[in-house]
Amino acid sequence: ATPRVVVVGGGFAGATAAKYLKLWGANNVEVILVEPNASYISPILSNLVVTGQMSLSSLTFSYTQLLSYGITHEQDSVKTIDKTGKILYLESGKQLTYDRLILAPGMELEAITGLDNNLVPHAWKAGPQTTLLQEQLSAMNAGDTFVMTIPKAPYRCPPGPYERACVVADYLARNKPGSKVIVLDANANIIVEETTFSAQFANYGITYVPNSTVTSVDSTAKSVTVDQNGTPKTYMAKVLNVIPNQTAGQIILDSGLANDSSGKWAMVNPLSYESTAAANIHVIGDSQATSQPKAGHIANSEAKVCALAVLQLLAGGQPYSQPVTNSACYSPLSSTTATWLSGVYRYNATTQTMDLQVVKSAPTPSTQYFSEMRDWAGNLFADTFK
Ligand code: FAD
Repeated sequence: ATPRVVVVGGGFAGATAAKYLKLWGANNVEVILVEPNASYISPILSNLVVTGQMSLSSLTFSYTQLLSYGITHEQDSVKTIDKTGKILYLESGKQLTYDRLILAPGMELEAITGLDNNLVPHAWKAGPQTTLLQEQLSAMNAGDTFVMTIPKAPYRCPPGPYERACVVADYLARNKPGSKVIVLDANANIIVEETTFSAQFANYGITYVPNSTVTSVDSTAKSVTVDQNGTPKTYMAKVLNVIPNQTAGQIILDSGLANDSSGKWAMVNPLSYESTAAANIHVIGDSQATSQPKAGHIANSEAKVCALAVLQLLAGGQPYSQPVTNSACYSPLSSTTATWLSGVYRYNATTQTMDLQVVKSAPTPSTQYFSEMRDWAGNLFADTFK
């Protein structure tokens, strides 16, 4: 029988894996994509939806084109995994067997006391949360205060929260004069592109407070209490944007695959992305615990390494021994300027890890980078969903 690969999650990681399994495996593999949604909404560029510059529909991708490669879309969620029997139990009650399983469920946001996302959005998964934050921002009055919190690393998209602070501050400066932006960071400092972001924060007059760990939220009063090196402090906001700490997707936690030292992310062999906790199960994208960042561009890159390795393993061979992946994060800093950060990772056979070989970032933000950002995103969207 034709071997069956089931891919769980149709984001940057899963959609790319499903597509390249069929492109490279053709009729030698059956590919089923389990994903509850009919279309995908990209978090990439979604900060420009928050400021009203882009529409959510322009970041929405239907799976129709992807399916034309010969992939079957099972519009459902995986509830549990029988790792020994190689069976998936879906939300609908249906069961699916697999020869190899690729899990790409993204990340999960941790609970915070008092946090109600219907009142205080995270907007870290794109969709209704993005729209809610956009509506709250546009309803602010001149002179109001926007408070946002940044999770403890590692989290999805290292520059993303700093980028959000900048585009929100730019929007407020143009539309709601005299408004304030306060950034409460759980980390000890700006974790990426520090020179660029701290210069921008100074330009915009953003108040940046590092070492601020969220302890509770009053969602109705729009206040957040943080622990600052042992001292509690409460901040009041007109609009409060709390981005909680993150873990691997729920199915990874529930299946006992979050086996790194924090117990939150899935350790894998970077040659194949096979879990170190379970045979025949591969984990790519935000949920994996390699040295690579949790980001969409590199999720697409990991997916190709994984898809090729799975095809090689199904054919009785071994995965390619020298994989190279790359990452790119473009960050808008205003409605017309952007910066970027990119990295190349190469497999180190001695340590069996992906080592950062080259890291580069924009020397200074520019309007040219803003236009390149649209081209870069367009290419990534097309390579993943079309
Ligand atoms: P996701 O894209 O979250 O996809 C996971 C999918 O799995 C979802 O569709 C979900 O429905 C599905 N799923 C979950 N559980 C199950 C289940 N049990 N059964 C079936 N399906 C399931 N990255 C970059 O590279 N560059 C950038 O410039 C960049 N900018 C960003 C800006 C912002 C504001 C944000 C928030 C993120 C940004 N990112 C960027 C990060 C990027 O969006 C994520 O890292 C990327 O989406 C992760 O891809 P993924 O496939 O792992 O997860």
